[in-house]
Amino acid sequence: MCGICGYIGVNGAATKSVIEALHDLEHRGYDSAGLSRVCEGKVETYKISIEEKPDFTASDLADTIPDFHKPCKMALGHNRWRTFGGINKINTHPHYDNDRLFYLVHNGNVENLKDVEKEIGIWKRYSETDTEAIVNLIAKYYKQGSSFSEAVKRTINFIDGANVIVVFKADEPEYFISANKGGPIILAKGKDFSLLVSDPAPLEKFNITSKAPLESGNIAVVDASGWKVESSRNDNESKKRKKKNSKNNYKHFMLKEIMEQAETFANAFRGRLIHEAGTAKLGGLESLSAVKNVSGMNFSREIRRINRFHFVACGTAYNAGLYAKLLLNRFGIQAEVHIANEFCYSHPVFDPRDAFILISQSGETADTIEVMNEIKIKGNVYLGILNVPDSRIWRETDAGIGIRAGTERGVASTKAFTSQLACIVLLAVFLARQRNMTIDTGQKILFELEKLPTKIEESLKSTRKISAIARKYLEYDNFYFLGRYFNLITAMEGSLKFKEISYKHSEAYPLGEMKHGPLALIDQNFPSFVIIPDDSVFNKSLVNVYEIKGREGKVIALTNKSKEKELKKQVDDLIIFPETLDFLSPILSVVPLQLLAYYTSIAKGINPDKPRNLAKTVTVS
Ligand code: GLU
Repeated sequence: MCGICGYIGVNGAATKSVIEALHDLEHRGYDSAGLSRVCEGKVETYKISIEEKPDFTASDLADTIPDFHKPCKMALGHNRWRTFGGINKINTHPHYDNDRLFYLVHNGNVENLKDVEKEIGIWKRYSETDTEAIVNLIAKYYKQGSSFSEAVKRTINFIDGANVIVVFKADEPEYFISANKGGPIILAKGKDFSLLVSDPAPLEKFNITSKAPLESGNIAVVDASGWKVESSRNDNESKKRKKKNSKNNYKHFMLKEIMEQAETFANAFRGRLIHEAGTAKLGGLESLSAVKNVSGMNFSREIRRINRFHFVACGTAYNAGLYAKLLLNRFGIQAEVHIANEFCYSHPVFDPRDAFILISQSGETADTIEVMNEIKIKGNVYLGILNVPDSRIWRETDAGIGIRAGTERGVASTKAFTSQLACIVLLAVFLARQRNMTIDTGQKILFELEKLPTKIEESLKSTRKISAIARKYLEYDNFYFLGRYFNLITAMEGSLKFKEISYKHSEAYPLGEMKHGPLALIDQNFPSFVIIPDDSVFNKSLVNVYEIKGREGKVIALTNKSKEKELKKQVDDLIIFPETLDFLSPILSVVPLQLLAYYTSIAKGINPDKPRNLAKTVTVS
């Protein structure tokens, strides 16, 4: 979220101007605020946080600045909404590198922080933020011989995620540089100054003669007379990094990405939980006014008016959409889900007040783009749940939620799925809190959500057991994946993963539907994976397990520790996954099924990263 501003002017009014802008950017972050200014060639930095003064305002920050009216040409300011590290003065922006040559403010999240830290090499940290790593990477590239702007470009290309930075060099304070990769930034100019803000709110206070957004993918070099914009894309750097940032020690991208899920899942909710209000803060939705320049629009209120949400997606993202529908319905909100490529000819009925939410890992899925174009004609609001910043859907939707899963290379999507579910939970809590959900319920969900990365970690420890099960059932060609309610989604996603990379026939069914037809196929050669956790439908599901067993079908059950004893004698194999709230359980139960698909593929000698007939980003409709 964060509010960012930068000012440079021959009039010497930098301090006052940045403080005024910070006042108007307070809605973007109020954990702490900071300012660095350059006066007569010397850098001074001031910071304040709620730790020392709850409810502080930019005026309190101003009060900490001695000689406030001293003429200063340049200043950068920042209101922080923390994501990496606690709320305190040390973590407050601006941050500087080890040599205190570069000073930087940042809005966003570095999704590949470990890689960035590795790239910097030896350095000394003073804060817990990802921001400090960014400024040290710029310093490193600069020391290696890159120009200042080249170092900024290389850095923005190296870091993953939606990020905006503004940085100056202490010994060259005649300009500052801003790089935008997936966030809102506006450049503005007056008679003798230039200004940069992350939201249009402060602009009215200034005598502006011209303004322009800094588009994502560009950098701007800003001085007192204006700015120069150029593309920040640097193909060589991205290529080099892609090579480096490869499979690490894993044999396949798919396994690497499965194993990353505890971290990517935590990334998805980092900085987005408001515990005291039991709700989520989704910056992408709030900043609609800045992105589209529709100043003054209260998007939260617009969203409250929406009657029904239509999720649109394909493949794995469609399974995430099914989850979204179930979850919103559970919280009393109307929701539908559509397979993107069916949408345009199946006459879906909807109201002008309905909103569409497009889910796509790549943000380039042709079928989903087709629906987006159709919605544009209809005139409804459309939002995105997306992974790749700057992708087509990312650029064109009214607003969105970045899932922050980092680059996904495996053709069979894994970490993007769990991150999509994380963001859907955040969205559902946000919407439900606007409606009938109590603060108490909201808080409980957030509390449990925070425990899930550790539980995912636990699930990931079962690799040996799952690879043994994969080998045990290798001789069979046909499988059912079965579940009820929320775990029907796990069954669908498990079955999709399985067929994608093992080339075995698998079908997902609601457990209760078995008796209406599919049971006919059951015999000793047709095993079923049954997801049957300890939840409200456990007893019903157990009856269906008996039905399958009674027809000589083999059952591999996925359940929780509390039901292990009860199920052990009834089924052929058991996979245990950690307990959680019933509607969060797909996030944990899908992990063993991703591993199952992977190990079955390996046991068959298939390369799971290159499944036949499939491709990662489906740009054909
Ligand atoms: N990741 C940065 C921090 O934690 C910026 C946070 C943000 O933009 O929300 O300080």
